[in-house]
Amino acid sequence: MNTKDLGFNTKQVHAGSFEDQFGSATVPIYQTSTFKFKSAQHGADCFSGASDGYIYTRIANPTIRALERNIADLENGYDGIATSSGMSAVTSIYFALLEAGSHIISTASVYGPARGVLEQDFSRFGVEASFVNTSNLKEIITSIKPNTKVLYIETPSNPTMEITDIRACAEIAKEHNLILVVDNTFSTPFLQKPLDLGADVVFHSVTKFINGHADIVGGIIITKEASLYKKLRHSMVYMGCNMDPHQAYMVLRGVKTLSLRVERNQENAIKVARFLENHPKIEWIKYPGLESHPQFELAQQQMNGFGSMISFGVKGGLEAGRQLMDNVHLATLAVSLGGVETLIQHPASMTHAGVSKDDKLKAGITDDLVRFSVGIEDIKDIIDDLTQALEKV
Ligand SMILES: *Cc1c(COP(=O)(O)O)cnc(C)c1O
Repeated sequence: MNTKDLGFNTKQVHAGSFEDQFGSATVPIYQTSTFKFKSAQHGADCFSGASDGYIYTRIANPTIRALERNIADLENGYDGIATSSGMSAVTSIYFALLEAGSHIISTASVYGPARGVLEQDFSRFGVEASFVNTSNLKEIITSIKPNTKVLYIETPSNPTMEITDIRACAEIAKEHNLILVVDNTFSTPFLQKPLDLGADVVFHSVTKFINGHADIVGGIIITKEASLYKKLRHSMVYMGCNMDPHQAYMVLRGVKTLSLRVERNQENAIKVARFLENHPKIEWIKYPGLESHPQFELAQQQMNGFGSMISFGVKGGLEAGRQLMDNVHLATLAVSLGGVETLIQHPASMTHAGVSKDDKLKAGITDDLVRFSVGIEDIKDIIDDLTQALEKV
């Protein structure tokens, strides 16, 4: 079905699906590593590209292709490349777009391992990286060097909830011949479409909102154009970080309700944010949907909603935050985000423990920062849980 001109809700249900010989209503799991050629000539044609038949699951697989086409459609992109995890999407992107002597500019408060792998590993191959506050466009511009190849942004960023202006970054990238990559995990294509705003590559940890049920790990990359798509697919296939067909089936199932879940997630999130903002034991709170957020207006312009991730500090700092985390009952004390269930975690000692203390502070990841991912439960129960836990702090 050509879903290009249909609405988002229709696309998320139907895009990428195909007819099989039995008329399956959902995309079946093609749990096979390899595919039979009809003849020696057909096999040769599949390899040369003269035929588009399937060859081997690391290269492509019908269940995985269905997911890739679905998310590419949701992002208004050319095509998608599904990966085994969000981090393998990140490393495939670095592998494809960087080389010895090249330089990448990235958001300082970027997802911890996306920074760590540049600092600890790609540096060994001669790649340079600068981590700057990309919310401040001047910082980006002054960091550009003759060897800068990639501008990589995460917005809203994790866990500081800072917003970067995607359209302005696209202009800077164009002017300086950089490839603009956007981590759209926190927003999903339902709330933000970076390719429409001028980005070249967008990717997700589908582990989070897109799958939405905290039961698989996966990633996906979508490009605006065919040439970058080819480069990135080559990188994924050669690194061997393909998604598995069963994983793809689970994500196809999850994505069908993406907009419904995100709507409920954020309807709850604004209520949780207002509750926390007015609570006497809360020192500070950052949520793009609050007027107090420094980039509230920019968030309104480039997003169709504010999402469901909240950062806050409890009065009394780290110790008070720990007491809160140890006393919630409904919220699960766990990393990850974007699922149907409410989660709470402490980035400084958990997800961002690998970032040095100095760099954490520069990136705004203070010791008291508590990250809250609001689920789709009844709002009264989420707030009752926070109320009783804050009483014990
Ligand atoms: C989780 C996450 C990743 C990494 O994805 P995995 O699926 O855990 O490998 C990358 N970026 C962001 C913003 C994330 O939240």
